[in-house]
Parts: sequence; structure tokens; C-alpha cells
Amino acid sequence: MPQVLQVSDIKGIIHNHSTWSDGINTIEELATDLIKNGFEYFVISDHSKTAAYANGLSEEKILQQHQQVDELNKKLAPFKIFKSIESDILNDGSLDYSDEVLASFDLVIASVHSNLYMKEDKAMQRLIKAIENPYTTILGHPTGRLLLSRNGYPIDHQKS
Ligand SMILES: [Zn+2]
Repeated sequence: MPQVLQVSDIKGIIHNHSTWSDGINTIEELATDLIKNGFEYFVISDHSKTAAYANGLSEEKILQQHQQVDELNKKLAPFKIFKSIESDILNDGSLDYSDEVLASFDLVIASVHSNLYMKEDKAMQRLIKAIENPYTTILGHPTGRLLLSRNGYPIDHQKS
């Protein structure tokens, strides 16, 4: 049996929310704690504007957040904070910002947060369209399930 991954092998954390949306720590608090624990980077991916219940970010807030991330990256180098967003996959499979805004991130996480009760063909049509978006980097929580409380929508993991 080869050596399995150790916690110390993990160099960065992806998909984090801060006080900019519904997280409980500021970006700087998250970054300084990760530095203390030996991490090299993290990705800030607050909720997007459609997730109003989670204080999702308007285009204006995104600009302000990017300024703050630029300042923190200078202050905390060589630690690196990557700019991201958890962009909602809308009912038709499109993301909830313009291409121009999406292009301003280092990476984009696309997630379904609304109309979760779908049949497989509808779910697949939505997810495939989101995956095919050239700005999508990562599909967030692919089936929308909540452990012990919601099964999530059915999807065809093999479909190409
Ligand atoms: Zn989410």
C-alpha cells in the first residue's frame, strides 16, 4: 500500500465563504489562520448575486472585494488568495454574471442553489450547459444533496 495523502500534503483550500457573503470570518482572518497552519493558498468564492438569501455579491461588491484581495496578496505574500465566486447556475443553465464579470476571476465555481427538484434530463441539461460555459472551472456540490436530509437530483455521472 503506497503512502496515502496526509493532511500536511494539502497546500490550499478551495471554495470558501467570507463575511462578504454568508461566512463568519473576514478574508484576512481566513488567510492568516491558514498561513499559521502551513497552507500556501486559498480560494475565496463567496456567494453570487442570485443567492440574495446568502448576501450574494453584486458586481460593485466584487470590484471592492478584488481590491481588498489585491492588497492582502501584497501584504501576505508569498501566500496567495485566488479570486473566485460561487456563481449560481440559473434555471436555464447559464451563470448569473456577464462574461466580463466572470472573466475578472481567477476561477469560477458554478453551483445549483435553486429549483433543486429536477428530473434527470432537466438536471443534466442545466449542468452540461454550465460546464460548457468557458468560464466555469469547477462544478460545486454536483448533485445538490444534503446529507441525511435531501437526496439531491439524479444525474448521469458518465455522460460525455
Ligand atoms: Zn453552494
